[in-house]
Amino acid sequence: MTDITADGAAGTRLADPAEAVTSLLRAVDLHKSFGATPALAGASLEIKPGEVVALMGPSGAGKSTLLHCLAGILGPERGHVRYRDRVISGMSDAERSALRRREFGFVFQFGQLVPELSCAENIALPLRLNGVGRRDAHRRALDRLDRLGLLELARKRPGEVSGGQGQRVAVARALVGEPKVIFADEPTGALDSMNGEQVMRLLTQATRESAAALVLVTHEPRVAAYSDREIVVRDGRTRPVPA
Ligand code: ADP
Repeated sequence: MTDITADGAAGTRLADPAEAVTSLLRAVDLHKSFGATPALAGASLEIKPGEVVALMGPSGAGKSTLLHCLAGILGPERGHVRYRDRVISGMSDAERSALRRREFGFVFQFGQLVPELSCAENIALPLRLNGVGRRDAHRRALDRLDRLGLLELARKRPGEVSGGQGQRVAVARALVGEPKVIFADEPTGALDSMNGEQVMRLLTQATRESAAALVLVTHEPRVAAYSDREIVVRDGRTRPVPA
C-alpha cells in the first residue's frame, strides 16, 4: 500500500482505509480546462456516506465538470478524486467505467431513456450491463417500479409517458443497482415546478432509504433545499455555504 500522492497514482489505495469510512468521496484541488477555457480552478469537497449534497452556482461556474470529475467520467488535469480507499482520477478508463457501473447511479436533465425499450426494460438495462440475467433484471426493475409507486408505467415506452413520469423512471433506473452514490445533473431542469418537486421528493426519499449519497447539480435554491448541505461553485472553485 502506498500513500496518496498529490495527483494520485493509478488505483492507489489509502495507507489507512479507516479514513474512507468518514469520507465516501473526496476531491482535492481539482483543475480542468477545455482548451483555453478553465472549468475547474481549485475545487475541493468531501461527501460522507448517505449525505445529500447540492452543488449550486451560476451557469458556466463548473458544476457539471465537477460532477463529471467526481463520477470518474472526466479526469482532472491536477488534483485527485478519491472514492472510499481508491484514487479514481488515476484509474484506467476500463477501471473507471467498471466502478461507475457497479457503485454509481446517474440521473440527467433529460431522462435519456432508450425510446425503443419499455420503462421496465430501461430500468433493467444497467443490471443487464452488469451481467445480471434477463429474468432477474426484469424482476428487480418491476420491484423498483413498485416501490416507487410507478408500476403502471412498466410496459409503456418513454414516448408514451409524460416528462415527469419519464424522469421518475430515470430515478428508478439510477437506483436499481443499489449504488452507493447517485449523481444527478439538473434532474428537474426540464420539468415544471410541480413535477420538479415530485421528482426531488422521490429522488431524495429513495436515496435516503437506500442509504446512498446524492450529489446534485442545480442552480435552483428550491431544488437545493432538498439537500443536507449546499456547496457553491463559482469560477471553478468551491465554497461551503455559511450556516
Ligand atoms: P455549469 O455546470 O456550472 O454550468 P460547466 O461545468 O458545464 O458549468 O462549464 C464550465 C465551463 O467549462 C464553461 O465555461 C463551459 O463553457 C466550459 N465547458 C464545459 N464543458 C465543455 C466542453 N465539453 N467543451 C468545451 N468547454 C466546456
